[in-house]
Amino acid sequence: MALLSIIVPCYNEESTVETFYAHTSAVCAQLDGVDVEYLFVDDGSSDRTLEIIRALGRREKGVRWLSFSRNFGKEAAMYAGLERAKGDWAAVMDVDLQDPPELLPELLETVRGGEYDCAAVRRVDRKGEPPIRSWFARRFYKLINRMSRTEIVDGARDFRLMTRQMVDAILRLGEYNRFSKGIFSWVGFRTKWVETVNVERSGGESKWSFFKLLLYALDGIIAFSTAPLAIASVLGLVFCVIAFIAIIFVIVRQLLWGGSAFGWPSMVCIILFLAGVQLFCIGILGQYLAKTYLEVKRRPIYVLREEGGGHEEGT
Ligand code: UDP
Ligand code: MG
Repeated sequence: MALLSIIVPCYNEESTVETFYAHTSAVCAQLDGVDVEYLFVDDGSSDRTLEIIRALGRREKGVRWLSFSRNFGKEAAMYAGLERAKGDWAAVMDVDLQDPPELLPELLETVRGGEYDCAAVRRVDRKGEPPIRSWFARRFYKLINRMSRTEIVDGARDFRLMTRQMVDAILRLGEYNRFSKGIFSWVGFRTKWVETVNVERSGGESKWSFFKLLLYALDGIIAFSTAPLAIASVLGLVFCVIAFIAIIFVIVRQLLWGGSAFGWPSMVCIILFLAGVQLFCIGILGQYLAKTYLEVKRRPIYVLREEGGGHEEGT
């Protein structure tokens, strides 16, 4: 029988794990000819999430779990899950039911048909989200798509179902700074977008503050575009041209009218402005250097503390 692996990253989700499993397993019971394995990845939760997952894993034989030594982030959790998925297909789902399990049969049919390698979910509205957050999100997608050749789809969730072939391709991208929305798109393959409306969390609260999202957006740009690096060259060129024109202007004025040796305040403004531009450009360089530094260290993407389920249990 074919196997579908469902990977579920969980971070402080004690209030949602059980409801998620109840809902999703009810939907999966209707899939015919397919076995389902669940891989819950506890991303260093500080609440009772791990206990609940463990209990679930001991009760249900289709449930395995992993637990990290600390919080490594959702990207790391997805990677760990995909690494261990045994299925012919793998799906990634949030545990808060914002990724409606009711879509699973449709996603599976799409990929099983053979025409597509991946079926991914995209939300078409942002209801229930603070308006400024939506505004910044839209700007971000516009910006990154202009700067990067990898297409990042607006509203794409991480909820998707893919073939083994695609999973293997994703695992080959072993980078430390993982920006999944970009990675999924970078590996290519034929993706069908399934649209859905925004669903509110079933319980608990979002782990993403506005500031965290902003940093994540910057990480995404740095990971999938080198356009910011060109800013320094362009600005440098522009200022050279301006300086050249200014020099000619000053010389001509001196020759014709004399007495051009004043203008101390404007000089200070120009110096300050250019110093700012230079620091800004060095800052951009620094961002890329920092990311490169982290990649070069080749640290593992996550550290495991415990693994179990699927009958046998280890630590
Ligand atoms: N998550 C995780 N590690 C983190 C943050 C989040 O594994 O450091 C999981 C979380 O448990 C959930 C999913 O990622 O299953 C999405 O998180 P959340 O619902 O907080 O994000 P949002 O839906 O608000 O974008
Ligand atoms: Mg959520």
